[in-house]
Amino acid sequence: MSFAENVRCELAALNVKKPCCRRMLGAGLLLGAKLLPGKQIALRLKQESTAELAIPLLSSLYGKAPDVRQSGACGHRFWDISFSSPSAAKLLHGVQEEGILPVTEGKGVCEGCSAALLRGAFLAYGTVNDPHKSFHLELLLPEGRGADALESFLSSIGYPPRRMTRANGIGLYFKDSGSVEELITLMGGQHVVFEVINSRIERDIRNNENRATNCVAKNIEKAISTGTRQMEAIGRLIETGRLDNLTEGLRITAMLRYRNPDASLDELTALHEPPISKSGLNHRLQRILSEAEEL
Ligand SMILES: [Zn+2]
Repeated sequence: MSFAENVRCELAALNVKKPCCRRMLGAGLLLGAKLLPGKQIALRLKQESTAELAIPLLSSLYGKAPDVRQSGACGHRFWDISFSSPSAAKLLHGVQEEGILPVTEGKGVCEGCSAALLRGAFLAYGTVNDPHKSFHLELLLPEGRGADALESFLSSIGYPPRRMTRANGIGLYFKDSGSVEELITLMGGQHVVFEVINSRIERDIRNNENRATNCVAKNIEKAISTGTRQMEAIGRLIETGRLDNLTEGLRITAMLRYRNPDASLDELTALHEPPISKSGLNHRLQRILSEAEEL
C-alpha cells in the first residue's frame, strides 16, 4: 500500500459523529463534483477507501442511495457516483459559482468542521508523497471558484498553498515538511503523521551529518597543508644553515615540529619544556614560516 493510501485509509476510517462535521465531510467530498442539469451531482472517486466512506455518507446526508458505477482496470479504478439533490446542488452552486465554502459561513459550524471539510477534500482530491522521498501534499480541483475558495480557506487557517495549473485542474500544494505534518494532523491522521515526522528527523540528521563531515574534511585538509608548509620551511632552514641563526625558542619549536610531523598543535605545545601556550606556538610557527620565505 502506498503512503498516500495509508493516509487515506486512516482518515476514511475516522468516526465522525457530529451532524455538522458529517455535513462538512460530505461537502469536502463534493467540492470538485460536477453539477449537471436537474440538480444532478456527478462525482468520480479513484480510491476504494474514499468510495466506501462516501457512498453511505452521501446517502445519509442527502436522503437517498446514490447511483454507483465501477469501472477501470489495471490499478486504475473509478467509482462514478451520481444522485440528485436540491440541497447538494445548492451547496455546489455556492462553492463553484460564488466561491463560498460552507465552513466559512459560520452558522451551525463547530470547531471540528474545518478539519472535517479538509479531510473530505483530501480524500476525494488529495494526494501526498511518501515522506521518505519528498514532502508534497496536494489537492487537485477543477479550475474555477471552488479551487479559489479552497485556496483562500487554507490561507485563512494559516496554510497558504502554492498553486499550479495542471492538465486536469488546479493543484494547491505544500512542499514544506511543517505544513505537510500539520495538515495531516489537522485532518486527523494521528498515526501516519509519525511517519512524516520520523522521516523529517532522519533527513535533518543526515543533513547535519553531511555538514559535519564536510567541515571535518576541510579542517583535516587545512591541517595537512599547513603541516606540509611548515615541514618544507623547516627543512629549507636546516639545509641552508639558517636554523642556527634563529633564537633558541624558535629553534626548539622548529626541531620539535620537524621530529613530530603528525603532532597536533595541542600535542606540540605539550612537547615543549616547559609547555608553551597555543598562541605562543602559533606565533613561533608563523615566524619560522616567514624566516623560510625570506630565503
Ligand atoms: Zn462540526
